[in-house]
Amino acid sequence: LVVLDQVNKRFGDHHVLRDVNLSVLRGEVVVIIGPSGAGKSTLCRAINRLETIDSGTISVDGVPLPAEGRALAQLRAEVGMVFQSFNLFSHKTVLENVVLGQVHVLKKRRDAAERRARELLDRVGIGAQAAKFPAQLSGGQQQRVAIARALAMDPKVMLFDEPTSALDPEMVNEVLDVMTSLARDGMTMIVVTHEMGFARRAADRVVFMADGEIVEQNGPDDFFGTPRTDRARSFLAKIL
Ligand code: ATP
Ligand code: MG
Repeated sequence: LVVLDQVNKRFGDHHVLRDVNLSVLRGEVVVIIGPSGAGKSTLCRAINRLETIDSGTISVDGVPLPAEGRALAQLRAEVGMVFQSFNLFSHKTVLENVVLGQVHVLKKRRDAAERRARELLDRVGIGAQAAKFPAQLSGGQQQRVAIARALAMDPKVMLFDEPTSALDPEMVNEVLDVMTSLARDGMTMIVVTHEMGFARRAADRVVFMADGEIVEQNGPDDFFGTPRTDRARSFLAKIL
């Protein structure tokens, strides 16, 4: 569903993505891990075209990433993204945050958009907060609104870039639980996280990146049980 072929990205003379090849199948959950500066966020941003690439190709559902215009807006709808910072519209209610994209991008009627928004807010467990403003919610609740907002665009794939690392520890699980349930329901997901419990539980595949390269990838049991490279072993020794 998402295919990266020989993708390279440089910031000045810093080579941040080096010949990255990655194919994510429909319904697959790929967890990306690796040290700070490995290029994990850059990779996610490139898939959503928030970042340009210097060479190689990225395609989503068989279509190469468009450069601009309507096609780009369409792509952004198809590729949902959830960031570490929730990026909600602070002056809009929770409901409105989930309605807006449906009306403006998908051109849905307002009543249909609201119905769908309420459904999704219920699904992530915050239906009762629909009339509040983001600042009135906890971090975990805000992140669940962000997930509902991304889902409202009926994305083909969801990207998560460290969705729980800005949260207080007691709120991490409520967000991971929503993500685990999405994974079970067959959503295609690419997740950058340091939550190894989530990786073991929900990942079909773990991709280990370092210095802009995919160093190793494997199913979670094999990856965590018998990492094949020194770099993966020493990374795991530090974080586990
Ligand atoms: P972290 O775990 O800290 O989030 P990461 O794996 O997500 O790290 P990236 O954010 O993708 O790493 O960054 C990869 C490298 O690219 C880093 O060395 C970073 O300093 C550099 N970089 C990222 N964005 C830019 C930018 N806009 N301009 C210049 N350099 C950048
Ligand atoms: Mg990052």
